[in-house]
Amino acid sequence: MIKLTNITKVFDISGNKLTALNNVSLNVPKGKICGVIGASGAGKSTLIRCVNLLEKPTSGSVIIDGKDLTSLADRQLIQERRNIGMIFQHFNLLSSRTVYGNVALPLELAGVNKAQTREKVNKLLDLVGLTDKYDAYPANLSGGQKQRVAIARALASAPKVLLCDEATSALDPATTQAILKLLKEINRTLGITILLITHEMDVVKRICDHVAVIDQGKLIEQGSVSEIFSNP
Ligand code: ADP
Ligand code: ADP
Repeated sequence: MIKLTNITKVFDISGNKLTALNNVSLNVPKGKICGVIGASGAGKSTLIRCVNLLEKPTSGSVIIDGKDLTSLADRQLIQERRNIGMIFQHFNLLSSRTVYGNVALPLELAGVNKAQTREKVNKLLDLVGLTDKYDAYPANLSGGQKQRVAIARALASAPKVLLCDEATSALDPATTQAILKLLKEINRTLGITILLITHEMDVVKRICDHVAVIDQGKLIEQGSVSEIFSNP
């Protein structure tokens, strides 16, 4: 479902070249959860941002559900991005919109009519357990509730892939467990393929089928959770 081949990303910082990703290849089969783990500065954010081309790889290809995103014109890319939801460490909700308004936004932007939007948003709020908060503003929600809104919003366009960028790093341990449980449930019931990045081993141990370890822009190891975390 996600096929990254020989991704290299070089940043040019006023003439100084910094190789953030060095020839990274990773395949995530449909319906699986893959975690990329690594220290701060290892290249995790850059890697996950390359998957939906928020960051353009210097070289290499990004194939999502059989389509090569790196070869698309901007307009087609916008279309294909609907297949890729994303959630973030700091939620990135719009503070001027209610819970309902945040989740409805992608549907409004896609021109979905009001009745269908309402039906879809209500379903999503039910899925993430926030039906009773539909008219609250983000400022009045807990961190866990904000991430639930962000998850509902990410699912609004019925993506095939969900990218999670340190999605539990701003949450306390109990809330982290609850959000991971929700992500696993979404993966299982909707069949969504998940790629997540984290610096927390517990996160990958808890929900990932497969783990890749990134260090200084290179994937240095990958395998099942038991392979990566076994202590021979
Ligand atoms: P094999 O043992 O045939 O080499 P793999 O080691 O590639 O197979 O995969 C073992 C299991 O892990 C399979 O269920 C496969 O679907 C899954 N898997 C492989 N790569 C990933 C990945 N990047 N993310 C999530 N799951 C994966
Ligand atoms: P991680 O998410 O693992 O902490 P990042 O992907 O954020 O790592 O960063 C990897 C390297 O790329 C770091 O050295 C970082 O400073 C650099 N980097 C990331 N984004 C940019 C950018 N937009 N411009 C220049 N350098 C960047």
